[in-house]
Amino acid sequence: MRLARLAALATVASFPLGCTHGATTTSEPASGDFLAANMNRSVDPGVDFFEYANGGWLQRNPIPASESNWGIGNVVREQLYLNLRKINEESASAGNRAGSDQQKIGDFWVTAMDTDNAERLGVHPLDAELAKIDAITSPSAALDVAFAMRPLGVGAFFGFFVAQDEKASNEMAIHLYQGGLGLPDRDFYVNPDTGVARTRDEYVAHMARTLELLGRDAAGARSAAANIMAFETSLAKASRKLEDLRDPQANYNKMTPAEVTSKHTPSIDWTERLGAWKLHPQFVVVGQPEFFSVMDSLVARTPVPVLQDYLRFRLVSTYSEYISKAFDDEHFRFYGRILSGQEEQRLRWKRVLDAQGDAMGMVVGRIFVREYFPPAAKKRYTDMVEAIRAAYGERIRRLDWMSDATKAKAEQKLAGITPKVGYPDKWKDYSALVIGRESYAANMMHAARWQFNDMISKYGKPVDRTEWDMTPQTYNAYYNPSNNEIVLPAAIFTIMGVPDDRIDDAVAYGYTGASTIGHEITHGFDDEGRQFDAAGNLTDWWTREDADRFRQRAQVMVKQFDAYEPLPGLHINGKASLGENIADYGGVLLGLDAFRHTEQYRKGIKIGGLTPIQRYFMGYALGWLSRQRDASLRMQLLSNVHAPAKWRVLGPLANIPEFYAAFGVKPGQPMWLAEADRVRIW
Ligand SMILES: [Zn+2]
Repeated sequence: MRLARLAALATVASFPLGCTHGATTTSEPASGDFLAANMNRSVDPGVDFFEYANGGWLQRNPIPASESNWGIGNVVREQLYLNLRKINEESASAGNRAGSDQQKIGDFWVTAMDTDNAERLGVHPLDAELAKIDAITSPSAALDVAFAMRPLGVGAFFGFFVAQDEKASNEMAIHLYQGGLGLPDRDFYVNPDTGVARTRDEYVAHMARTLELLGRDAAGARSAAANIMAFETSLAKASRKLEDLRDPQANYNKMTPAEVTSKHTPSIDWTERLGAWKLHPQFVVVGQPEFFSVMDSLVARTPVPVLQDYLRFRLVSTYSEYISKAFDDEHFRFYGRILSGQEEQRLRWKRVLDAQGDAMGMVVGRIFVREYFPPAAKKRYTDMVEAIRAAYGERIRRLDWMSDATKAKAEQKLAGITPKVGYPDKWKDYSALVIGRESYAANMMHAARWQFNDMISKYGKPVDRTEWDMTPQTYNAYYNPSNNEIVLPAAIFTIMGVPDDRIDDAVAYGYTGASTIGHEITHGFDDEGRQFDAAGNLTDWWTREDADRFRQRAQVMVKQFDAYEPLPGLHINGKASLGENIADYGGVLLGLDAFRHTEQYRKGIKIGGLTPIQRYFMGYALGWLSRQRDASLRMQLLSNVHAPAKWRVLGPLANIPEFYAAFGVKPGQPMWLAEADRVRIW
């Protein structure tokens, strides 16, 4: 992925971001170069290139009170919000045929914006589920409820999903995965850092207040919350670390459902449980068998009232934003204020559009691209993909450390990458999704059920390689190793306030060519992606010597990023972020190679006082123009495989000789790395 996922918790998605009047808070000069306007020229680029390139904009645009971070992605999204709101309002006022896309969009919008209705209903939209939890009398009954809430997007005890089989990409497989936590990652439960310890205390207090909102007395709620925390901490300790989840071989353990039951989860008869969803697999893929063993025995020995409180909290936490204000505010108090550092809640209509994106984003996306993604832009970036692909081929052929045998396979894989640009060629059928005007929570439940059924229905059918896992209006992109594809949603090409035909090639190759296209293509060859072949299967196509040489070269990058300390005492996790850092580094190299074939590069004319190659590197830095609050930074360092934005500029560029030359970086300056410490992979 190109970007950090910044929402605290994806509530409905099966797999796991103000202003009132539409004006963004940018204050760009009305004329002049859009890139030069962002700069802080008082900073030496060899000292801090991120601040040199982006510091001017960042000084003029402080983080709004409602946000945990603020930068180009947010400002682009502000414009998207306005466009999406227009689509929603027009849909709501039109006379719609029941079941049409417009009816679903309009009813979702009107119902979600109806706060009076949400107040009137209070927690009642969850009554049926809460009653099931109340009726639990045994650990086995607690598991029944956990399985029953799974189609509602409530992730209790463990993770479950249907996705392509990593070792047979033409087939779908059932995956059992570690999960069940309310904090973003296991590290939050065990890290001794004082800021993290404070977050843990706040989490317990939040769970207690949530239980009080459900009618529990204060003392009872406090002890219940402490028990949930103890339970989750045990789950967390049994969970693998962020960096250990990036080993696809170690997280692929194929066994029959009966074997999972007999070896790891005596309390869960998987044949029967999966059968209830009409799934009768020969085998399942267990990500972390040892997690399932611990989870099973933990559930069996935990007192039933604790399991009930755990399930109540998981359910309410998933739906808090869609019910009455007391729940919504309490949810924000922890997940927004404490965990992300937001000072105030974001405007409801924007949050509603985010929820709609999670629930039924493709329905809206189909209308969105019709109006907002011109064919000329699609062509420009489709062509750029091919320019980047060609540049990678040339680089692979030139490598002095890779054997011809591995090179041939690498080129084959490169040639096999499918680019998806802008929006899907084939739109998903949402006709079975029911959206009405009963309540916001009910619509979110309908959407969760629809997504769950959609996921389940893929099992046993041929893999549909035309699917997209992101909507066109998403400011992000991804590489999917099982399809050997890069997926580039329409929104990711946008620069705020600059129409596409005004973005010069230098900036486009840095901003999109490097930080998005080159980045995603390089994921196919990072420490994780390189373990998948051209057909998307987890198979080792490297000679042992080449794999060793790759690892040695990658280790230089682990060391480089381990040394960065964005918050006192909290370093970047070089191992967990390695794949993203390799992708950034590869992206900058490839974008530059491709840019050298353009007329702008050859002519060498300055714009805004910057040479083409300087603009290229500035364009790359523009992709990471953003700043975040300390709480958000802490969360990212602990739970996200992406390094924070600033270091995604400083880190890769410090390995690139052309960058040193373009900005006159000198030995002894902070941006300078000794030759021996520079990463050389691609
Ligand atoms: Zn990435």
